[in-house]
Amino acid sequence: MKLYNIKHKNEIVNFSDAVILGLGSNQGLFFPKKLPKISKKKIKKLLKIKFIPRSQKILSMLIGSEIKKKNIYSSVKSAFSLNQPKILNIKKNISCFELFHGPTLAFKDYGAKFMAKILSFLNTKNKLTTILTATSGDTGAAVANAFYKMKNIRVVILYPKGKISNIQKKLFCTLGKNITTIAIDGSFDECQKLVKKSFNDKDIKKYTNLNSANSINISRLLAQICYFFEIFHLTKKKHRKNIVLSIPCGNFGNLTAGLLAKSIGLPIKKLILSTNSNDTIPRFLKTGIWNPYKTISTISNAMDISKPNNWTRIEEIFRRKKWNIHSLKYGSVSEKKTKKNMKELFKKYKYISEPHASVAYTILKKKLKKKEYGIFLGTAHPIKFKNTVEKVLKIKLKEPKIISNLLNLKEFCHNIKPNFNTLKKILLTK
Ligand SMILES: *Cc1c(COP(=O)(O)O)cnc(C)c1O
Repeated sequence: MKLYNIKHKNEIVNFSDAVILGLGSNQGLFFPKKLPKISKKKIKKLLKIKFIPRSQKILSMLIGSEIKKKNIYSSVKSAFSLNQPKILNIKKNISCFELFHGPTLAFKDYGAKFMAKILSFLNTKNKLTTILTATSGDTGAAVANAFYKMKNIRVVILYPKGKISNIQKKLFCTLGKNITTIAIDGSFDECQKLVKKSFNDKDIKKYTNLNSANSINISRLLAQICYFFEIFHLTKKKHRKNIVLSIPCGNFGNLTAGLLAKSIGLPIKKLILSTNSNDTIPRFLKTGIWNPYKTISTISNAMDISKPNNWTRIEEIFRRKKWNIHSLKYGSVSEKKTKKNMKELFKKYKYISEPHASVAYTILKKKLKKKEYGIFLGTAHPIKFKNTVEKVLKIKLKEPKIISNLLNLKEFCHNIKPNFNTLKKILLTK
């Protein structure tokens, strides 16, 4: 698989380099040179087989011979086998696709685990690699869990202090060992800026072998493509021509993966981009003006991002496929509406949901046409947002055992201001 840097199209790398480098020069994102087109007949065949063997076929096709088929298979197996997605019917023409049955209870487990496994095949030089990543809530846990106790790997995670839920924090700050966590006195966008700056710093580059496991890493996106196929597998044949998907967007990795799935032939009818009040992209699509505001803290905190990194990839897909960007449906949801629809899902349909899924549900309801079949993504388990869910729905959630055990664990955490030199010192300390 060859990929180019969107910012410098003549910078071309293979898949392994793209996984190891994370970003190209000038912080440009890598994008596949070829988007294979799977025939209708082949898609039909693929949809008949099970999640793991199907995912291996799709990934082998995308990645090519660079990674042995058996290694792709073992990566897929390790990343997906304890994480079977489910579809839950809510009402006649709306379902929720639940992606939160993995070890850290959010969809990010798929990409993070797959990436960790692939890196272990690539990292044969016995050199210490530092994985530096920023999290708006769920990436931290997924990445920490995926790389925990892995040989020759040090993970450093930045998160915006006080802006993630207690359980989200406990899931990665209590691990210790090869996982270093840093609370930044600032927003997610500031964390992301520090990460980007580190990648451009000569000393850090020289003394650490730096990698980012953010959703900018191509291996994570490729893994995510696979579950969009599973949606079709799990949906009745009579609905498959009319599937409209609503994606709750933060850094826009999930939407990128969905669009990539469509671009290689999965017949998704429409994709809907749903955001919370951090609505840079909905405003951009409406006005054509790029004007990110300061990030606002919301109850769907994993989407509190006003400068989404993956957006350039989405523009690239539309450009390459000659699709009209205005065919993308979009909308943003206020806190009030998010809560209102969490209540509606619970009272009317007995479905306990959390704020991110509710954002996607809200826009789906608004945009869904007659005859269409709507599916919104359930990106995290409601327990991860225990306080909010209990307060909004006035219920008490059952705590899975892994969670109650977690709450008593001690946290290991640095606390710093969003200051690059302080971060640099930590990164250069072995
Ligand atoms: C990360 C996350 C999102 C946003 O996904 P992106 O791929 O960054 O757009 C949505 N919901 C939850 C629960 C998340 O953890």
